[in-house]
Amino acid sequence: MKDAVAWKQVLNIIKNTGPGTLTVVSATSGTTNSLILAAETAKNGSLGQARELINAIRENHKEIVDSFTGGSREHKEVVDNCVAHIEKMMQLLDNYLLGIHTLGELTPRSLDAVSSIGERLSSFLLAECAKATGMDSVWADAAHFLKTDSQFGAAVPDMGAIFERSKKLIHYIDQGKFVVMGGFYGSDSQEVTTTLGRGGSDYSASIFGLAVNAEAIEIWTDVSGMYTSDPRFVQHAFSIREISFNEAAELAYFGAKVLHPATIQPAVEKDIPVYVKNTFESNHPGTRIFSDADSDSPVRAIAFKKDITVITVISSRMLLAWGFLAKVFAVFEKNKVSVDLVSTSEVSISMTVDKKARLDTIQKELEDIASVKIYYNQALISLVGKNMMKSKGVAASAFDALSDFPIRMISQGSSDINLSVVVENDHAVAAVQALHDRFFPEIATPEKP
Ligand code: ASP
Ligand code: MG
Repeated sequence: MKDAVAWKQVLNIIKNTGPGTLTVVSATSGTTNSLILAAETAKNGSLGQARELINAIRENHKEIVDSFTGGSREHKEVVDNCVAHIEKMMQLLDNYLLGIHTLGELTPRSLDAVSSIGERLSSFLLAECAKATGMDSVWADAAHFLKTDSQFGAAVPDMGAIFERSKKLIHYIDQGKFVVMGGFYGSDSQEVTTTLGRGGSDYSASIFGLAVNAEAIEIWTDVSGMYTSDPRFVQHAFSIREISFNEAAELAYFGAKVLHPATIQPAVEKDIPVYVKNTFESNHPGTRIFSDADSDSPVRAIAFKKDITVITVISSRMLLAWGFLAKVFAVFEKNKVSVDLVSTSEVSISMTVDKKARLDTIQKELEDIASVKIYYNQALISLVGKNMMKSKGVAASAFDALSDFPIRMISQGSSDINLSVVVENDHAVAAVQALHDRFFPEIATPEKP
């Protein structure tokens, strides 16, 4: 959703998919980050700077509409509608920023109100631009359709309410309209704006794929599908043709950034295939995610996530005692921090967490129970593959490939499809490369003539 050229391409893709397509869009590139920065800047004292940031957003969107319509008289109505919407959103933003600045406080609720503006802009404008190209399009405001609970910043969809409201979307679809809706944001039962969390547009798309009973859910992004590893860092990483729901979910959760981790859940429910495709290379097959995708190799992909934290809790009282683990996890529950990986020994338990928020509090509370060690700057590497545990020697090969790297933690996911290790941040890329070369050797070492 970068610029007018990308918008034209997006509309081409939608047009080719055909009338009766529901499209969920994210904000234009960089907008959500700018909005968040503007909110933080306003809170920290500089309303002027915050206003400059939102002014750049205003100009950028006007520019997209202008170059899309080419300033032609013929599209005057579209341009007027767009400009009016942009100004309305800007007024709203200005009010929010003023409130945040005046109170010197930025609550998760306010942040959701501000960060939703990116999608509220892009979706309305794209629906209008679609009209300019002769498409019978209609804008659906996600605030009305994506009903959620009130956990700002990580709202949970209320599927009952969403199904009920989606009848209207189904009606539009049946009429053959092109429906355009913003991803990422919605509203709670009091109509207060909420968001699903960063990258949540994918999740919105699959929620509505389920709600309107779609034939397929297509995630159009800027890479050609899910890769065997992150191609920006790992040589010879390649796009995976097909992958099962479980594997894709595991990969997304453990570091593959292409998809929001929750995207798979709604699709699984009605067995709707999910395609991950490249907007800028629309003929590339990308990745097809479906229930019983087969695989010849034991390892399907190797994901990694840097900057995670390992927390180790050690207590001799844990020995033969019950309730110790419960006490440890209660601390995380109380602080609403999710734990990714767990491994235990007789007297200790190690866990990884992704976010640094509340770590100080968690550490203090854990120290009331036991002694605590925290290791920052760690990286989680996950081998994912549904045939991994059925095949012999995968763990042996993995650890052999990793023999040069000190390993802080090991966990074989109980899902049977995940083997994870934790290494130092600085070793992450080299370790993943070593694993990739080991498990995808035919590509790593091209045949000699
Ligand atoms: N615009 C939101 C974000 O940047 C949601 C998304 O793009 O999926 O996090
Ligand atoms: Mg995204």
